[in-house]
Amino acid sequence: EVDTLLREVRQLLLQRQGPDTAEHAIPLSEIFTGLAHNQFCAHFQPIYSQHEHRAVQVEALARWQHPAYGLLGPASFIDRLEHEGFIVLLTRRIVQTSLDLLTRNPWAQDLRLSINLSRGLLDDAEFFDWLIKEVEERQIPPRQIVLEITETMAFSNLGNTLAALLRLRMRGFELSLDDFGAGHTNLEQLKDLPITELKLDRTLIKNIHQAHRTQSILDGIIRIGQQLQLRMVAEGIDNPHDLAYLQGRYPELELQGFYLGRPVASSELSSHLGYGNRPASA
Ligand code: C2E
Ligand code: MG
Ligand code: MG
Ligand code: MG
Repeated sequence: EVDTLLREVRQLLLQRQGPDTAEHAIPLSEIFTGLAHNQFCAHFQPIYSQHEHRAVQVEALARWQHPAYGLLGPASFIDRLEHEGFIVLLTRRIVQTSLDLLTRNPWAQDLRLSINLSRGLLDDAEFFDWLIKEVEERQIPPRQIVLEITETMAFSNLGNTLAALLRLRMRGFELSLDDFGAGHTNLEQLKDLPITELKLDRTLIKNIHQAHRTQSILDGIIRIGQQLQLRMVAEGIDNPHDLAYLQGRYPELELQGFYLGRPVASSELSSHLGYGNRPASA
């Protein structure tokens, strides 16, 4: 009948396009069912220190193990949840499973953990009370938790945002500005944000080894970041040439990308933390 047919077509579309282009294919009710049945989890992508020659941090990335469509990425559900005001449900799930990763595995004990926050959450004092409690209960030092926000979040409604960010910072949490350099980067206001980390967007990193104009832009951004004493992470390193360029020029930079380590399930993570484990080709 029609319903079955629709399901099949949707499944075919998802398979053809990949999960990340299927933003509006899945109805909200189905997302709720997935949340109720515990089908959401976090995968973890390592962030490597060049000095320490190992992963020092992992980023939690939301995944949906869908019974019919398989593993779906955030593009299939994050926007819907944000728009409908339910992102807090998913974020709590991601936070809990990620904090458990830190406490239950000896090899994860000193890894920093990055959590992506949505705009709507910055006004949610109840969520942050909950977060502080979850971290305290597990006796995890808050400095081990890195909360990622994006530029548009940081610079819209600056007064309220600043208050929320300052509160977290005073509690000892680390704060990261994600996807930096992707949009209308506001270099002027950067110094007013209580952030501790800057994540350089992958549009700055992709092909950096041969993009001369971008090289000088990146150079300028990194110098500003150094002056502000921010830890900096390059995201989206997906080939050996960009890696070699960044390694040669910026030994302080922390590195993240498919070429070094893809997002993996928690059960696989421990074997991806060594810096030397990366594949010989992209
Ligand atoms: P993001 O925070 O910038 O995360 C990095 C994204 O880039 C991830 O996609 C990751 O898989 C991908 N990536 C990593 N290395 C490479 C690379 O070398 N090349 C390329 N092309 N891509 C790379 P993913 O997992 O699909 O997540 C997409 C976005 O969804 C994230 O971007 C983040 O903004 C959002 N997101 C993910 N998990 C959560 C969550 O729990 N809560 C919220 N609010 N947003 C989330
Ligand atoms: Mg992120
Ligand atoms: Mg990012
Ligand atoms: Mg990004």
